[in-house]
Amino acid sequence: MPTLTLKPGREKSLLRRHPWIFSGAVEHVDGVPEPGGTVDLLSFKGDFLARAACSPQSQIRARVWTFDPSESVDVDFFRRRISRAIHARSPLLLGEGPGVRSDAFRLIHAESDGLPGLIVDRYADTLVAQFLSAGAEFWREPITNILLELTGLTKIYERSDADVRELEGLPSRVGPLRGAIPHSPLAITEHNLKFLVNIETGHKTGFYLDQRLNRQRVRGLAEGQEVLDCFCYTGGFTVNALAGGAKSVLSLDSSADALSLCRENVALNTSFVTRHSSLEGDVFHILRKFRDEARSFDLVILDPPKFAPTAAQAEKAARGYKDINLLAFKLLRPGGILVTFSCSGGVDAPLFQKIVASAALDAGVEAQIMEHLSQAPDHPVALNFPEGAYLKGLVCYRI
Ligand code: SAH
Repeated sequence: MPTLTLKPGREKSLLRRHPWIFSGAVEHVDGVPEPGGTVDLLSFKGDFLARAACSPQSQIRARVWTFDPSESVDVDFFRRRISRAIHARSPLLLGEGPGVRSDAFRLIHAESDGLPGLIVDRYADTLVAQFLSAGAEFWREPITNILLELTGLTKIYERSDADVRELEGLPSRVGPLRGAIPHSPLAITEHNLKFLVNIETGHKTGFYLDQRLNRQRVRGLAEGQEVLDCFCYTGGFTVNALAGGAKSVLSLDSSADALSLCRENVALNTSFVTRHSSLEGDVFHILRKFRDEARSFDLVILDPPKFAPTAAQAEKAARGYKDINLLAFKLLRPGGILVTFSCSGGVDAPLFQKIVASAALDAGVEAQIMEHLSQAPDHPVALNFPEGAYLKGLVCYRI
């Protein structure tokens, strides 16, 4: 097996069980690793550190499969890891209460489930997979077979079209992997509400499953409220706010397709339609316009796209977050609630809290944090992989 020997001192992160090795940490390579093939990582002194997938084209040169020198990386290895991930999604861990039904979950959350580069989401009886690293790509066929074997399902659709594939030197690939092309959009149930999910062209694998519990939280906050759902996508928060008894919900998004599915999702859950309206446009502009018109709301939701994928873009992202949060505070009536999120890996929870605090200050509003929110438990975070905790949210009460 080819080996990568690390520079002196560069074994430290591996000893803490962080699964990535950057190209700059590699002293020399013995043998010719193929893209995604398995290599042993050795310390400068030659001690075994980990067994990993090699990404010859990526800055992240190797992603660890196992730290156990006696464990080989073969089909059985993937069967064990995938089985472990599926078992970890017991209803108890997922936070479903009695009588509550959901049939859409993340089954495999990449590094945090010991499977770097592999994302698998379940939408009713269809799986949607993303192979995002050279290692995951290398094992694509056996992984696909094992997923079907262990879930008893017959349909897997591939959405390997995320930008990160390019960094790994992999082309984008989308289409059915096994089974008939699913009828898209397909219907799922989340906390007894129905949603249509477009797995072929929707964002990520089609739906923001990471917000599942937070959507339920919004449902509990919405009764009798006038709600503004910013960056609504296909209406996850909108439908929940309506189901929670909102007086009205206005959904904003720049995508006409997302808004059209949002309206369908509202209609699917019936009887709320008359309390719903939607507006296509740039949230930054619309919020300014609403401020100038002195409009106000009781509950504002801000769930923008990733402004800063990495720490390098944090400063620019901070300006974006500050801007929308400031405007949202201005539109919020006293006694109103702001539910605000960031899914930027480059902005950590303390920084996000600082940004929201300074937005309130500049808006001339006094507010308090009632609750910290994060991603749903089917998006776990390995203790040794803090990068896995990307979604942070605050529920702020305007005094
Ligand atoms: N809250 C949603 C997920 C939001 S994803 C849910 O729970 O499902 C982010 C959304 O922001 C996308 O739908 C995208 O179309 C939209 N978007 C991105 N930039 C925007 C902008 N400047 N103005 C309005 N919408 C924007």
